[in-house]
Amino acid sequence: MTTHHAEFKLAPLQSKLPRVGTTIFTVMSALAAEKKAVNLGQGFPDFECDPILLDAVNDAMRSGHNQYPPMAGILPLREAIAKKIHDLYQCNYDPVTEITVTAGGTQGILTAVLCCVHAGEEVIVIEPAYDSYVPAIEMANAKPVFVQMEINEQGYVIPWDRVAAAVTPKTRLIMVNSPHNPTGSVMRESDVKKLAEIVRGTQILILSDEVYEHMVFDDKRHESLCRYPELVARTFVVSSFGKTYHVTGWKVGFVAAPAILSAEFRRVHQFNVFTVNTPVQHGLTTYMHNPSPYLELAHFYQKKRDMFRAGLANTRFKLLPSNGTYFQCADYSAISDLTEAEFCTWLTTEIGVAAIPISAFYQEPRESGIVRFCFAKQEKTLQTALERLAKL
Ligand code: GLN
Repeated sequence: MTTHHAEFKLAPLQSKLPRVGTTIFTVMSALAAEKKAVNLGQGFPDFECDPILLDAVNDAMRSGHNQYPPMAGILPLREAIAKKIHDLYQCNYDPVTEITVTAGGTQGILTAVLCCVHAGEEVIVIEPAYDSYVPAIEMANAKPVFVQMEINEQGYVIPWDRVAAAVTPKTRLIMVNSPHNPTGSVMRESDVKKLAEIVRGTQILILSDEVYEHMVFDDKRHESLCRYPELVARTFVVSSFGKTYHVTGWKVGFVAAPAILSAEFRRVHQFNVFTVNTPVQHGLTTYMHNPSPYLELAHFYQKKRDMFRAGLANTRFKLLPSNGTYFQCADYSAISDLTEAEFCTWLTTEIGVAAIPISAFYQEPRESGIVRFCFAKQEKTLQTALERLAKL
């Protein structure tokens, strides 16, 4: 069957994102499925969410919560989010004007960038960086300015002096992410203080990607920027229910920001997605009444991290710290000279374990000999992967 129309020849499109292909997560998941490899690549749990949450969403659907919700999200959910932020970080957001429910963290990030960054302005991106940040900046016709994290015995650290040096009169936004994908590093209070020093006295805004907020290990606290009133005033805080409640496919998150920022955020949001599906919002509202699931999440994932690290210690991978998220980075330079992307393809195809190359999180080619594994998996999945990796 021919699908083209012979009478009309379309000229090649000028891409808005010429450097972008299919995301590495999709590519590696497809390869893992094709090769029947254990998929420790794309970050998602291979276990079910709490049946109580499923019941709550089902009940919402059956009770007729199936039409458009308010543009910013249903108020009871925004109130539950505001309460959680208050209880955890002692910060008061007005649920009416300062919390917006989004179609996942990625939409929150895109909408935040689009609503405040203008053509020709600069956005500081700390690399390695989650792969949606730069396309979001490019869609705003703005310029990403990169600062690379350094790797030392503490793992990946942010060189704040280099972030400060990257600021120019055109800097509109700094994007930070803690707990950090892909490195598993977390910002400590000293990091936040340095960030505060950099922006003090400027009009620079901050986008704080905190989608892994409930996965900080070893009894450390999550340094949400919500804890710092000086920063709250200029920050979009992005979070995600998908990570917290093991429902990445539901694509629901939220953005908290002062009213002046949220008003601009909503102007874009209403024409970006308009709003987010209703029954899931009702289900989440019911489920959030019990704080235990998110309060216990760090412990839940720390056990998986410890089990996975103990297993990797018996391989030739060299482990980097994993202080948060559900990711573990590992140096494979004792095993192979391949590039990270080649190594991940080989590992998936020949060894039967999929991982993500850290090079995918850099704009310019950069090889560190490090790959990312996701340990949000059942113990038996991790065991199978470890048995295969131990043969290397
Ligand atoms: N956040 C997930 C990860 O880092 C992937 C999300 C996606 O596939 N776009 O693996």
